[in-house]
Parts: sequence; structure tokens; C-alpha cells
Amino acid sequence: MPLLSHRMSLIIPSPTLVITARATALKAEGRDIIDMSIGEPDFDTPQFIKDAATQALKDGKTKYTAIAGTLALRTAIAQKFQRENGVTYAPDDIIVSTGAKQVLFNAFLATLDPGDEVIIPAPYWVSYPDIATFVEGTPVIIPCSEKENFKLSPAALAAAITPRTKWLVLNSPNNPTGMVYTRPELEALASVLRQHPSVYILSDDIYEHLVYDGLKCTTLAQVAPDLQPRILMVNGVSKSYAMTGWRIGYGAGPQELIKAMTIIQSQSTSNASSVSQEAARAALEGSQEFMKEWVAVYEERRDIALALLNAIPGLSCLKPHGAFYLYPTCQGLLGKITPTGTLLTADTDVATYLLDTAEVAIVPGVAFGHSPSFRLSYALHTDLVREGCQRIAHALEALR
Ligand code: PMP
Ligand code: GLU
Repeated sequence: MPLLSHRMSLIIPSPTLVITARATALKAEGRDIIDMSIGEPDFDTPQFIKDAATQALKDGKTKYTAIAGTLALRTAIAQKFQRENGVTYAPDDIIVSTGAKQVLFNAFLATLDPGDEVIIPAPYWVSYPDIATFVEGTPVIIPCSEKENFKLSPAALAAAITPRTKWLVLNSPNNPTGMVYTRPELEALASVLRQHPSVYILSDDIYEHLVYDGLKCTTLAQVAPDLQPRILMVNGVSKSYAMTGWRIGYGAGPQELIKAMTIIQSQSTSNASSVSQEAARAALEGSQEFMKEWVAVYEERRDIALALLNAIPGLSCLKPHGAFYLYPTCQGLLGKITPTGTLLTADTDVATYLLDTAEVAIVPGVAFGHSPSFRLSYALHTDLVREGCQRIAHALEALR
């Protein structure tokens, strides 16, 4: 009998994390790698948040908490939804988990029977299809072209819905494209969803604060309050508050679903870290002023990287209005030959060439279900963003 279960054949290691681990290992060997692969803010967690964690330790908040998270944190989350999104939730409609990734895992595990379908617009964040597959659901990938700004159209959504559709995954601002759905675009999707009352919507808004050009992020529940009973809001503190390592994510939705997710969590991890929960509470309840500064810095980096990449023959990149990624198309590089004689036939070849030659780590588009492209994160120091793009330009100039 094999050691590993059949389930293990259904997932691969998260490609973003694998590439980052590779970049980190190369750095440890002394290579001068610029890591533009991981979606992780370079900013430090603000001091007032760290202070709240220190205080939690001093106060002995070092024990198990309620499975779904402390009432104090769930209250802060409910207030956040009201204040920022105009959507009403009670603490009992909310679960706190070990990262938004665990919220997603809990949700799919709680709802998908074999063959139940999850509609995922591509390009998508790497983990959606794998988590759905792992729990024996069926991802239904809808390709969204560059011409459509990588966004899901109402017609494509309507065409993809079947009697087996359980979920639609919406992620705005989007990882990996940085695209942000406008209010009219969400309203148009809502019109389709109203005709299909058995479809639930997973709205992953984890990048909601990271929007540029004076825009404000809108979420589906805000434009279509009638759909709220069918929406699972997924969010977390990793990106907006530079708290990736604290591992706090949260979900809000129908109580039946939140209860089921809580049962699963009671048998897997119990509760998210008590100290991290106190830190997340401080993050949500404290002044949000620091974020304006961060957003201005990200916006400047986006502009620098976008200009440098779009000046490179063979690359073209849409201007994203959110998150901290660029997603250039690299069709123009395929068929070219590297100085050492390798033919570039896919975006994975481009990624390998850039890592080996430019010492810049990026993630090939194939990981996000849309090729040939790559994802570049600009959540690193502005000087490194500039240098990384210059290195890419230099390496690509050498292609024949
Ligand atoms: N959703 C999206 C779109 C993401 O990019 C990420 C990446 N971290 C997550 C969810 C999960 O975040 P975390 O588990 O750190 O809360
Ligand atoms: N979400 C981040 C990324 O896309 C972190 C890595 C991961 O969780 O896959 O880079």
C-alpha cells in the first residue's frame, strides 16, 4: 500500500512559495538575487500593532481562544466591514483563521462534494484551483483576456454556470494582474448571479486597501446587498498591514457556512494564534493613516516598474490599479534564443532565464493559468524595483 493518499496527487506545492524558497536558497549561497516573486510587503508591521502583541503577552493572552476567534477581534472585524464596506455582519457571522488561505480551505472543505464546480476566472491566484481540487471539487477556469483587462465578463460568467456550480471566486484587486473591478462591472456580474440563486460567491478582497490613482475599492456585497446571504467575504491583515507572518485571515458569511467552517477548524488547528489575534485587533481598530503613505510608495513603484517594463521590446503590460503586482505578456520573447543557445518556448523558460542571467526571481504566468506572461511583485524597496526591472531589460536585450 502506498504511504501517501490519492489526494496528494491532486495538488502541487504553491508555485509562488516554491519560487520564493528557491530565490532564498540562491541568496543563501551568496547569489545577488532580487526577489520579485513573492507577494509580501517589504514594510515592517507598524509599531502600534507590535505593541498590542507585546501587551497581549504581558496580559497572559497565551491560551486557546474561541475556535472562530476572540469575540473582541470578531467585533473589530464586524466594525471594519460596516465602516469600510458598508456591509453589516454580527460577530457570529465571522470566523478568524490562520491566514485567508485557511479560510478558503475551510470554505471549500465545508461545501464541495465530488464534482461540485468552482468558477475561477483566470489569471487567478495559484491556490484557488488547487484547494478546490484537493477537496475533490472541480475548478472551472474561465480565461479572461488582456483585451478584457483580465476581467470576467457577465457573458462568460453566464456561459460557465451549470447546475453543479457551487462557487464563483472573485478577487479584486486581483492577484496576479492588479486589476480592480469597477462598480458597474460588479453590478453587471450581480445581474447574472441573481438569475442563479444556488451559486455562492467567494469575494477575496485581501488587497482592498492597496488601490491607486485615487480609486476606492468596491466589493460585491456593497453594490448588491441582496446577494449578501450568498457571499463569503474573505480578507485578512497579511497584505494591508504587512503582517504575512502573523497568519491572521478572516471570513464573513451565512451562519450555516461559518458554523461548518468552525467545526472543521475545531478539528484541524483549533484557533489562530491568540497573540496574533490581539495584534490584528489593534491593526483594525487603530489609526489607518500609515496606509496612505504605503499606498503612495507602492504607486510610485508601480509607475517606475511599468514604465521600465513597457519600454522593453517583447513585453507589454496593462496598467494595474491595485495590489502590488505587474503581469506583463511576454509573447514577443518566445522563439528568441539566449546567449547560451537556449530557445525560449514558454514563460517558464523566460522565468528560468531571468533567474539565471538577471538574477531576478519572477513567477511564470502558467502558475496563474494565463500564458505567456509573468508576475512581478513590486512590494520591495523602490531601488530594488528599479534595479530588478533594469536587470530584466538588460538580460532581454541579449536575446537573439
Ligand atoms: N488571497 C489572495 C488573493 C492572496 O494573494 C493571498 C496571498 N497571500 C491570500 C489570499 C492568502 O493570504 P494569507 O493566507 O496570508 O492571509
Ligand atoms: N499570496 C502570496 C503570493 O501570491 C503569497 C504566496 C502564497 O500564499 O501563495 O505571492
